[in-house]
Amino acid sequence: MLHIMSTKCRALAVIGCFLPFMLSAQNSFVFQEQSIAPGTHQKFKLKIAEGKDSTFIPISVFHGSQPGPVLGLTAGVHGYEYAPILAAQQIAQRIDPSTLSGTVLLVHLANVPAFLGRSPYVNPTDQKNLNREFPGKAEGSTTEQIAYQITQEVIARSDYFLDMHSGDAPEDLRPYVGYYRSGRFPEASQQGEAMARALGFDHIVIFDVANERMDEPSLYCSQEAFHRQIPSVDIECGRLGTVHTTDVDPIVKGVMSLLRHLGMTKGEPISLKAPIIIQERTSVTSPQDGIFYSLKTSGEFVAEGMKVGYITDFFGENPVDVFANASGIILYIIGTPPIKQGETVVRIGLMPTPKKPE
Ligand SMILES: [Zn+2]
Repeated sequence: MLHIMSTKCRALAVIGCFLPFMLSAQNSFVFQEQSIAPGTHQKFKLKIAEGKDSTFIPISVFHGSQPGPVLGLTAGVHGYEYAPILAAQQIAQRIDPSTLSGTVLLVHLANVPAFLGRSPYVNPTDQKNLNREFPGKAEGSTTEQIAYQITQEVIARSDYFLDMHSGDAPEDLRPYVGYYRSGRFPEASQQGEAMARALGFDHIVIFDVANERMDEPSLYCSQEAFHRQIPSVDIECGRLGTVHTTDVDPIVKGVMSLLRHLGMTKGEPISLKAPIIIQERTSVTSPQDGIFYSLKTSGEFVAEGMKVGYITDFFGENPVDVFANASGIILYIIGTPPIKQGETVVRIGLMPTPKKPE
């Protein structure tokens, strides 16, 4: 049958087509079999493991009154990295679901056993580093189960993803954000870069993922998101097990700006004109066990061959100098005395070479 519509009729048809979307706005969000109404938030404790090693993951779901993307946020993948953990507490207070478009899945503290056990790097119940266990195992050890639950319940449901870290207990770190990039996922890479910029940090590190690495297990929390083609970024802010407002505030401000960038709240994101982009990083590892004396602090610029510290034996003798293996900025350097053979002593971000005038 031939459809011949008048202009008025056609206009009505177009309105009719969009009407359900215009009126319906937002549906409920189902999490852990519970229905969360638009404009509300709910708290969950995801149960992990049984018996003496049982624990939980505290997650808040903020379901906006308006439709929009799902943003996954994780803090405390490392339980001794306090600045992002405390920033997450403030972020939870600041997100207002009644004015939010979309949904925020906020993992307040991914690694409760490491936090309560005051344990750097690893979960004390199984001695595993959560940020080396993604995508995790449903029936694995506590850490593997935490990775699995975060993968399934948060990462797999996100359109955008941010994992928040700082320097761990012994790490003197210079704040930066990073984003994942791969030729395989150009769009997710580009969106990740825009997210990194919207976080408002003045140093941006590019995590280039080689093609063969894309076919292996992700290991890292945010890389698991990227392997699923989700634009994915990290914040690294805070150091040495300390909590300073100068570290917590930029994380909170950055996340609020990210919400604006993604159109989840109103307003303009932070826009820095010329952040420093770091495409390559290099590290120096310790040749021996011993006592490390750092001569530099994070954020300092070093030239290749410059002495950054030295290591003595346990009698305070036979010092071995540690030299920078490249020119660039110290992203982090060990800031406490213990050092083991093979551990990273210093991580240097290489500065982009200035372009020669044509
Ligand atoms: Zn970390």
